[in-house]
Amino acid sequence: MSHTWRSELEEAGLRLLALLLPPVCVACDRIEGTEALELGLCSDCRRQLQPTPWSVCAGCSRQLEVDPLPDGYLCGSCRQAPPPFERLYSGWSYEPPLVEVVHALKFRRLAFVGASLGRALSHRFRCLSEEADIVVPVPLHWRRHMSRGFNQAEEIARPIASELELPLVRALRRKAATRPQTGLDRASRAANLRRAFTTTRSGRSRIEGCRVLLVDDVVTTRNTLGAATGSLLDSGATSVICLTGGRTPEPI
Ligand SMILES: [Zn+2]
Ligand SMILES: [Zn+2]
Repeated sequence: MSHTWRSELEEAGLRLLALLLPPVCVACDRIEGTEALELGLCSDCRRQLQPTPWSVCAGCSRQLEVDPLPDGYLCGSCRQAPPPFERLYSGWSYEPPLVEVVHALKFRRLAFVGASLGRALSHRFRCLSEEADIVVPVPLHWRRHMSRGFNQAEEIARPIASELELPLVRALRRKAATRPQTGLDRASRAANLRRAFTTTRSGRSRIEGCRVLLVDDVVTTRNTLGAATGSLLDSGATSVICLTGGRTPEPI
């Protein structure tokens, strides 16, 4: 089934679902209006979201007090240990009510929340359509994917790809960690994590020479995005930009 057809069918399905279910806010359970709620939140809860500011470090998305910020500016700790990806963008601080939004997607499988998150991110970061050639979601390990039934990163990545008019490529596969992380030094830990991802055979031919937009639901440390980026670069991607819905308020 073509990508556009799938999105159109999903859109129709979501509209039908919105007619059948009352629009209840995922954070405060309030019923509001008759339309499906943007991000699954009522207007009061939506106002409490904390969008990430524009003046952030390109490597860890931490707010910096330099204004205006030179393009690609890195904070002190990112300069000491630069991330493998070119930059990291996040939509909102990962605290309530965004936590409830992500949980609604992840654990209550409210797919329309993922679609809404993806659309909101693509509107805010529309410039990325010029900076990337393909969109790749961070995969779950197959066992977790089976038990959860879907990959939340892909639910967010699909509408981003369609809004930015870029192909969605499931280029990565997640393997179980080969060795426990404890007791390893920084370099071995990075090497160990790098082995956590591999590129799929079909994905490899699509990655080569491409600028990748790597999408995940939340970033709490840079380990996962860094490892996935390493795998993409090893397979011939020319650069990787990361985009996540949430970013933990703590340093990453
Ligand atoms: Zn609410
Ligand atoms: Zn930084």
